[in-house]
Amino acid sequence: MTVATQTLPVIGHVVGGKAIETAARYQDVFNPASGRAVARLALASKAETDAAVEVAHAAHRDWAATPVAKRAQVMFRFKVLLERDADRICQAIALEHGKTVDDARGELGRGIEVVEYACGAGELLKGEHSKNVGPGIDAWSEFQPLGVVAGITPFNFPAMVPMWMFPMALVCGNTFVLKPSERDPSASLIMAELLAEAGLPAGVFNVVNGDKEAVDALLAHPKVKAVSFVGSTPIAELIYKTATANGKRVQALGGAKNHAVVMPDADLDAAVSAMIGAAYGSAGERCMALSVAVCVGDAVAEDLIAKLKPAIAAIKVGAASQSGIDMGPVITKASQEKIKGYVDAGVADGAELVVDGRAIAVEGHANGYFVGPCLLDKVTPEMSVYTDEIFGPVLCIVRVKTLHEAMDLIDAHEFGNGTCIFTRDGEAARYFTDAIQVGMVGVNVPLPVPVAYHSFGGWKRSLFGDLHIYGPDSVRFYTRRKAITQRWPSSGIAEKTQFAFPNMAR
Ligand code: NAD
Repeated sequence: MTVATQTLPVIGHVVGGKAIETAARYQDVFNPASGRAVARLALASKAETDAAVEVAHAAHRDWAATPVAKRAQVMFRFKVLLERDADRICQAIALEHGKTVDDARGELGRGIEVVEYACGAGELLKGEHSKNVGPGIDAWSEFQPLGVVAGITPFNFPAMVPMWMFPMALVCGNTFVLKPSERDPSASLIMAELLAEAGLPAGVFNVVNGDKEAVDALLAHPKVKAVSFVGSTPIAELIYKTATANGKRVQALGGAKNHAVVMPDADLDAAVSAMIGAAYGSAGERCMALSVAVCVGDAVAEDLIAKLKPAIAAIKVGAASQSGIDMGPVITKASQEKIKGYVDAGVADGAELVVDGRAIAVEGHANGYFVGPCLLDKVTPEMSVYTDEIFGPVLCIVRVKTLHEAMDLIDAHEFGNGTCIFTRDGEAARYFTDAIQVGMVGVNVPLPVPVAYHSFGGWKRSLFGDLHIYGPDSVRFYTRRKAITQRWPSSGIAEKTQFAFPNMAR
């Protein structure tokens, strides 16, 4: 350990309402714009993670018995506190993630929308009731909490993705253990602090920072009843297989390669303006980032490139601390090298590099992990730049002849998170939305991220599990149904014993 790292602030865990900062292992948290460590993160051991699950388990009985309106009231207060402390949260995200403060505000806002949805828990958890299903018999189904649920989240949305999970899990009556990304852990700890200020009882929401050791402990612990995961596909698949084998309910959202089909009749100016933000915003580090433009016809490709080039040249790349920045660095040095490697491979495979951002230099930030926007034309489906999720500011152009060819290409891809079509043709758009094998589809909308009252989830290898995240699916995911049949005979006369299977309708 160097002398410099010893003076860095320590980021720990919050368990049972108490901050824990000691650990056997630590890892540095970096500012990607400077390449310098800004904090040391305590990495939870198996024993520490197990202890957090036990704390959450102990808090469950009282929390589950708390009236749903009181659980929702905590979320009302939490929403107000998130808005009050938005600056603090967004500055922490910008420092550790590298995205612009405006972009962080956007993600925080989408997280707050889920909190607002959770405020309607009383309505969402009403259940279903049937009176007189037989003589003197009523029946109903209700939603009961599962117990302790765990959330494991990625680096790219350190506030929004945890909020895709815990607000709904909590109002449904569960207690929660969150394992945030080790790259940008501060937003989760601020949210834990605000939940406590909002009146959430200690132990109901816990944050355990760490790496594989903490995750493995959560997946193995018998008191963890469900796991929500968001991250890369290989880890999503691993989490799904391990946790389901351990008897847990799992939703594991993975990676993506999102295609936009550009039709010959599209409004190209509107499409370019939308595509620039969707491809290069947040340095392409979004699971719904646009990474492939599928141009129907060579003329569309030529016109699109002619309009994209000046728009890309106008993108301002820099540190979040600088003003007027559109796009920050990528998350790590390794990620920067990986992204550049993909562009190198694309060129070696025969793609045409129309805009090269590999050698970008940001003044005053020589050690930052910057990659400028890259545009590759004449990409073909067997190239790694097309097959793999790059998770960086790289847009590939693939040329096809027909809409059907475009759709076959999208359907054949291993990922099925998001896609969109730019067109003025309602019939083509309707056919596309109906038939395409992708979970979230936009028409002239490049980032079709569903609002909080529609659930979010991809198809194919972009999601492992049956239920999507947030929205109506989250009520199903974070509860189990109990069906109750109840008889209160009014006469008090005992019924004749029946040996046939009970059948109230006949
Ligand atoms: P990641 O898979 O590396 O990490 C996600 C989480 O898993 C982190 O908390 C990490 O600590 C943990 N983890 C990593 N390796 C592990 C291992 N071997 N065993 C157990 N746990 C492990 O993902 P990331 O780099 O943080 O995030 C980027 C990825 O997330 C991209 O692939 C992106 O597409 C995806 N993502 C998907 C969605 C979606 O909704 N589908 C949303 C956001 C991000």
